[in-house]
Amino acid sequence: MSRSAHPAGPRHADVFPDGHYSAPAADLNVLDEKVWSRTVRRNDDGVATVAGIEVTRLAEEFGTPAYFLDEADFRARCRAWSDAFGPNADVFYAGKAFLSRAVVRWLTEEGLNLDVCSGGELATALAGGMPPERIAFHGNNKSAEEIERAVSVGVGRIVLDSFQEIVRVAHIAQRLGRRQPVQIRVTVGVEAHTHEFIATAHEDQKFGIALADGQAAEAVRRALKLDGIELIGIHSHIGSQIFDMAGFEVSARRVVQLLAEIRDEHGVELPEIDLGGGLGIAYTSEDDPKEPYDIAKSLLDIVTRECEAARLATPRISVEPGRAIVGPTAFTLYEVGTIKPLEGLRTYVSVDGGMSDNIRTALYNADYSVALVSRRSDAEPMLSRVVGKHCESGDIVVRDAYLPADLAPGDLIAVPATGAYCRSMASNYNHALRPPVVAVKDGEARVVVRRETEEDLLRLDIG
Ligand SMILES: *Cc1c(COP(=O)(O)O)cnc(C)c1O
Repeated sequence: MSRSAHPAGPRHADVFPDGHYSAPAADLNVLDEKVWSRTVRRNDDGVATVAGIEVTRLAEEFGTPAYFLDEADFRARCRAWSDAFGPNADVFYAGKAFLSRAVVRWLTEEGLNLDVCSGGELATALAGGMPPERIAFHGNNKSAEEIERAVSVGVGRIVLDSFQEIVRVAHIAQRLGRRQPVQIRVTVGVEAHTHEFIATAHEDQKFGIALADGQAAEAVRRALKLDGIELIGIHSHIGSQIFDMAGFEVSARRVVQLLAEIRDEHGVELPEIDLGGGLGIAYTSEDDPKEPYDIAKSLLDIVTRECEAARLATPRISVEPGRAIVGPTAFTLYEVGTIKPLEGLRTYVSVDGGMSDNIRTALYNADYSVALVSRRSDAEPMLSRVVGKHCESGDIVVRDAYLPADLAPGDLIAVPATGAYCRSMASNYNHALRPPVVAVKDGEARVVVRRETEEDLLRLDIG
């Protein structure tokens, strides 16, 4: 079980009381396949490799810190998701987890669709060659310019998030002489975090239109009247890093209930429902995510069952995994700079990056694993906290993990499962230069997002 699991969410508490830590793994040299991307191994010399390339070589060629993205693993996960959901469903990769032109090309080739939620993400999607009809545009406050661009290029759907937006999108589309396919995002009263979910009538959050008090039904009523938009379905997204399918079950039931009400009131059966993303991955060996096949079976079964009960034809289903596709496919490689042992407490291990390349630990109290990867060590396990080089004591990359006690400056350590929400949330705090993303495949490494330079920083600073 994840150490950050808590009914009120990962931000609120550690469930382990102070001073209680999980035991170290029996052998710290083992790279658990659950948390490392699929082509990661440790070779006979004790050096970790990815796609057959030694991390020591990668560090020499690309420097540290750097993200290494396992292309074969990424593509395999795309295929696993689309195979699992089959021909009657659509998989949309949530671009906010990590987006670059190379990733857009892989998605396009693997037959996935793409969620974007800003003009910048849309521009990247188009520049990477994603056909516009396979793009969904999200966001709770899309600008008029963003809407206009999305409609003009012909995105497959815009997900409407508010009453204002229903009118705004309809108006813009009409002015452009288009009829824009849209979904309405509803909040179903399910708050899902990791191993728990809470079902309520109301949702206290900025996204979507509440099912409660007939709000969503009223939104549908208004959308159906407008010429500029074509309402194709209902959208619901219940949370992130979820392991328990029960929240999706409640959500699917409530969305199907709305479809039945729409049929009864308007005589139309909306053809699509989108159940969002949020499926969890293993950040540590204690996490046990479900396989895409099991997730698909469970979601498809729930929707089919609920539709049969409501005497509705089963709509086309879409899902929007971000983290579950890209998260496990990358690791961050750091060099150890300083080591500060605190007797009887823990050892602080400072690396050459930090909260600027991984904000999730500080932001969500997220758990990560870490391993010494430039060599093997049979030294005793040492309770460690991996920290960055920023001027902030909350600058923590891995809160509690074991590293070998002979760890020394110059060693390379790596944090697995950093493919999602790390580079995409990276910042220039302390004028850090954001690390590169290097794609690795079949013995070859290629920079897909280059390291920032001081010139990049100074180019924005016009003096
Ligand atoms: C963030 C988000 C996702 C993806 O979430 P993951 O946890 O990365 O799977 C999908 N859909 C919507 C609407 C989102 O906001």
